[in-house]
Amino acid sequence: MATLIILGGGTAGTMAANMLRRRLDTSWSITVIDRDDHHHYQPGYLFIPFWMDPERVVKPRGAQIHDGIDVVHAEITGVRPEERAVDLADGRSLSYDWLVVATGAQPRPDLVPGMADGSLWRDRVHEFYSLEGAKALHDALESFEGGRLLVHISEMPIKCPVAPLEFAFLVEDHLRRRGIRHLVDITFVTPLDGAFTKPVAAATFGDLLEDRSIRIAPDFAVERIDNEAFTLNSYDGRALPFDLLVTVPPHTGARFLVGSELGDPMGWIPVDKHTLRAVADERVFVLGDASDIPTSKAGSVAHFATELFVENFLAAVEGKELPESFDGHANCFLESGRGKAMLLDFNYDTEPLTGRYPVPRVGPLSLLRNTRANHLGKLAFEQIYWNVLLPGYQMPVSATMSMAGKVPAGGK
Ligand SMILES: Cc1cc2nc3c(=O)[nH]c(=O)nc-3n(C[C@H](O)[C@H](O)[C@H](O)COP(=O)(O)OP(=O)(O)OC[C@H]3O[C@@H](n4cnc5c(N)ncnc54)[C@H](O)[C@@H]3O)c2cc1C
Repeated sequence: MATLIILGGGTAGTMAANMLRRRLDTSWSITVIDRDDHHHYQPGYLFIPFWMDPERVVKPRGAQIHDGIDVVHAEITGVRPEERAVDLADGRSLSYDWLVVATGAQPRPDLVPGMADGSLWRDRVHEFYSLEGAKALHDALESFEGGRLLVHISEMPIKCPVAPLEFAFLVEDHLRRRGIRHLVDITFVTPLDGAFTKPVAAATFGDLLEDRSIRIAPDFAVERIDNEAFTLNSYDGRALPFDLLVTVPPHTGARFLVGSELGDPMGWIPVDKHTLRAVADERVFVLGDASDIPTSKAGSVAHFATELFVENFLAAVEGKELPESFDGHANCFLESGRGKAMLLDFNYDTEPLTGRYPVPRVGPLSLLRNTRANHLGKLAFEQIYWNVLLPGYQMPVSATMSMAGKVPAGGK
């Protein structure tokens, strides 16, 4: 009997378990370990402050994981690669032959002084990167009557790096619909030198922010939140006043990985970015947000990478060369308010380009353009997530980035 343990039953862990169960014979046991039985559709957090029913984003984890896969509910406290063992908070240790780490990225509001430990937390200081946070922010927005609103990214990397921009556009639209937009001064505060990491997308989003009269405060390295003065303070001495602060806390990998044998000081696991095999141990693969690959931490990346990983894993257990090479392919929808959205398609080497997606020259989605079809595509993704992605069914889109029909922004 060979044993595969998958740490984390979120997006990547669930897909990997379901895909591999269909490909590995019964001499393999597959066990997924996660702390609880609640699978969250995290992209839904973005909409909860505005209109989405919070109950809609949570389903039982066990129901997403297919028959023939064991599920263990426990807090993972450590991995001992040399002994091929995983330690759990309840005192158990489980042995494996092969390990997949898919424990994601964790928002850490405890890392900014005055954030989670301040008196304004969940009062005037909010976040939407957790279910509780998104619900509390919904209530705060209902009673918000105007003033200075900061939408803030603490530091990179974070999950879904476009989500803070989406929130800025959606909140602007929300306030406009409530008839109080003119009473609110919105500033997008970022550690980056522009609206986004990729220059072409940064210019496009920067124009959109300007168009919506949302200011941008770039190069802002947060030092602390001053809960007495109601200011967000940076290391270079800036203090931005706020009436409502919507922040995205710093992220780390799972706590048990921080500074561990597998993880770096921030808990990200160094991997070969094309095979997703851990640098520290060839019996370990890393999927989803948990690794250090230089692309977005996004469900789309988890999906594309997991598809290619399956072939590599099957080759690895047979001692063969790994056949597939992941290119960092990411698809990111960006809600821009007023019932429209943009779509980005990029990889390790290529900037987001214009063109159509998923069928070259046909679409129906448009890259780097603000369209109604893109918005409907983002909404439709929720059903695709539960019914196609998580069960591990093949999607009619390529896991690697296609260049067919694409042109650089401004090109013909
Ligand atoms: C607000 C928001 C909006 C987003 N929007 C989009 C979007 O539009 N498109 C997109 O592609 N992506 C989006 N994402 C990102 C996407 O949700 C993540 O990239 C994706 O879920 C990553 O999958 P994962 O399997 O790596 O991690 P996760 O899905 O987070 O799963 C990790 C799992 O590991 C478990 N775990 C961690 N540590 C332990 C431990 N010590 N013990 C036991 N269990 C543990 C957790 O409970 C969790 O179930 C969004 C994220 C957020 C927060």
